[in-house]
Amino acid sequence: MDSMILDRIRGTAVGAAVGDAMGMPLEFSLAVPCDRLVRSMLPGRVPAGMFTDDSEMAIALAECLIEHRPLDPQDLAERFVDWLRRSPDDVGIHTSSVLRLIQGGYDWDTAARTMQRHNPGSAGNGSLMRCWPVALAYWDEPEQRRSDSVLQSQVTHRHPECVSACVLVNEIIANLIHGEEIHAAVTHAAQSIPLDPNLVPLVEQAPGLQREDLPNSGWIRHTLQSALWGLLTTNSFEEAVVQVVNLGSDADTAGSIVGAMAGAAYGLQSIPAEWRETLNGEWPLRTGNHWRAAQFIELADRLCGER
Ligand SMILES: [Mg+2]
Repeated sequence: MDSMILDRIRGTAVGAAVGDAMGMPLEFSLAVPCDRLVRSMLPGRVPAGMFTDDSEMAIALAECLIEHRPLDPQDLAERFVDWLRRSPDDVGIHTSSVLRLIQGGYDWDTAARTMQRHNPGSAGNGSLMRCWPVALAYWDEPEQRRSDSVLQSQVTHRHPECVSACVLVNEIIANLIHGEEIHAAVTHAAQSIPLDPNLVPLVEQAPGLQREDLPNSGWIRHTLQSALWGLLTTNSFEEAVVQVVNLGSDADTAGSIVGAMAGAAYGLQSIPAEWRETLNGEWPLRTGNHWRAAQFIELADRLCGER
């Protein structure tokens, strides 16, 4: 494989985890004033540099894809349930409701459909935050990339805007891995898929917004717009992540998504060394098995068939 392509594939995985860990201490906070932006990994609910549920669920999806291509949704659901049983420090409300139904004996499809029927307006960012492994597994296979992006979302989040956002972000990541310029990668992605009509104006408006315009809540529309804004209005991996996580609120999830896209755009080598060295976590949970940047690089390599 071309070394630049491999660097961007690795950058996607490490970038997502780094964005998650950068956002962790800022989750639920107000937007940080412009003259005091956080630019280093700080402790929060967990020690500095630790990734959270966003990256943990992404690892589960990645390991599922390494074993089953195309994606096996029941296997993915069982991996998520196993993760939930290990008492993660954080889990989304909608995600945990679906996983508890599966734990209680529902098959994956019935569980997500049941939750969607109970709360049809629910459109959180829980499937977008973990979607990037699909882009790495199929960076050069558009049909499979789109169908498994849909399927991985449907295991917990069936709302059409959630599904469409996952397809879009993975399309953008794949375009960036192929070496497209950032604005072109976003425009081409939006044109090449059947983007949900409610997301079209969000994508178009993102580069013209100011930070005051971005509530950065856990709503899929807010998260997608923050992440696109960060990618489109900055010129480096570092600045893209710093701008987005300092919006506060759902900082770790938006950080993870912009981190995946910016990692695909600028590559692994562009991620600040201090952030890469501080990144840490545990997988599987409660086993004492430490994960650092090296494990995300290995995961990326296995997803794209380099190992
Ligand atoms: Mg999180």
